[in-house]
Amino acid sequence: MGDADQPPAEKPKLETPNFRTMDLTIVTVKVGPEAKPIAVYQGLLLHHSGYFEASLTGEFREAVAKEVDLADVEESDFLSFVHWLHTQAIDVDPAEEVHTNRYAERLVDLYVLGDRLECEGFRNAVIDTFNACLEVRDELPDTAIFQYTLDRLLESSKLYRSLIDHFSYYWNVYEAFETDAESVTSIPALTLAEMWAMTSKLSQDLEDRTYMTQAPWLDDPCRYHDHTNGSVCLKKGS
Ligand SMILES: [Zn+2]
Repeated sequence: MGDADQPPAEKPKLETPNFRTMDLTIVTVKVGPEAKPIAVYQGLLLHHSGYFEASLTGEFREAVAKEVDLADVEESDFLSFVHWLHTQAIDVDPAEEVHTNRYAERLVDLYVLGDRLECEGFRNAVIDTFNACLEVRDELPDTAIFQYTLDRLLESSKLYRSLIDHFSYYWNVYEAFETDAESVTSIPALTLAEMWAMTSKLSQDLEDRTYMTQAPWLDDPCRYHDHTNGSVCLKKGS
């Protein structure tokens, strides 16, 4: 793995900027194939997003015109990002679309957007919401979520790690194989092997449950975050 594989450095910013002192210039972001114009304060974009900081500073056309095109981004996903910029909250309700994977797929999509916009705070908020949704619903997503996630994110992403951990902790792979083999075989083979090994260890080696003596997302939510440049976590476990 060379330096080319490393993501671009992001600034350690978790808190919101002060509206009285930030840059209140309006930037027009043209979103989706139809270039729907969405107005956002430049100060919010510069504070939180490495992508917008690169686009809106210097001599680029975008920086001069205060216009940025995001043709390949879904409008509803970008509006969720704008909602987060203003509120630090993720507008996904796990109670919506019960018994479908849509809430989980939407959170994966938002995580992908957080990657695209180089916004660590947004990604961390999305994964906190992802973990909270799985708890609130008291029900795991359909196993198709594994392939959906791998089609969009690297296997090494924190969100995929969270998915593996939740299934390993709550899901009985042996029982699932008996009752619904298709749900098991839809999981990518290497992921399934890892979960199998983790659950075997849990059931067979109770004296050495070093990894999952309790739900890791409750024990230390920060293990699923990115904190570049040593930024401080507001949700650090005890
Ligand atoms: Zn953290």
